[in-house]
Amino acid sequence: MSVNPTIAKPVPLIGVMGGTFDPIHFGHLRMAQELADALKLAEVRFIPAANPPHRDQPMTSAAQRAEMVALAIADNPLFKLDRRELDREGYSYTIDTLQSLHEELQGKARLCLLMGLDAFAGITSWHRWQDLLQFAHIVVASRPNAAFLADCSTLHQFLQDHILTNAQQLHEQSRYGIWMQEITALDISATKIRYQLEQGLMPRYLLPNEVLSYIQQHKLLAE
Ligand code: ATP
Ligand code: MG
Repeated sequence: MSVNPTIAKPVPLIGVMGGTFDPIHFGHLRMAQELADALKLAEVRFIPAANPPHRDQPMTSAAQRAEMVALAIADNPLFKLDRRELDREGYSYTIDTLQSLHEELQGKARLCLLMGLDAFAGITSWHRWQDLLQFAHIVVASRPNAAFLADCSTLHQFLQDHILTNAQQLHEQSRYGIWMQEITALDISATKIRYQLEQGLMPRYLLPNEVLSYIQQHKLLAE
């Protein structure tokens, strides 16, 4: 029997949720849950960036940010913390993370790199960004106030070349592609939470209580 090379072997899909998580909040958690539900992901790995290349150093140490992720996801069996970027020297490049996950999985599962629209809009500045699709699908979630850069023709072309037309292709198509998913709009950002804390305000109801307690206990992100 001949095998169609364009059809993927039926294996579970794992979501890869990278971020600085300084701190993790309900925007991240809800996004991961909605994508897992909509796309039938078997698992979502939260992978805190130890040393993100595209921004100022986070306010909180990588170990503390990972600790907050662990607290935030503890009650969800679908969510896992993955510390691999903390164990690596130098910048935390997503391409290296995907490659190491890909090698580890040995074809037993396939990857979906999850990101918000603001992150996708800046993807052409990422290290080896065009190679990301060698190791994973890219799933882009809507985010309030994030606009797709209509004037970035390189990104437009990339999207046009790789866009998937239905979510089932994530499971069935062997070639990796890009899927855009509308999610519940939650205008929450870690920047706003840090600002509230700096101002001496309580950002409760924007992030899990366990995370807020950790921040207070360790006197993080305060003025
Ligand atoms: P900061 O304000 O410090 O940049 P952030 O809230 O954007 O923090 P990140 O750790 O930068 O959080 O984001 C990690 C990933 O989660 C990114 O892909 C980002 O687009 C996505 N994301 C974060 N918050 C939301 C949200 N409210 N809705 C949709 N996507 C989100
Ligand atoms: Mg951000």
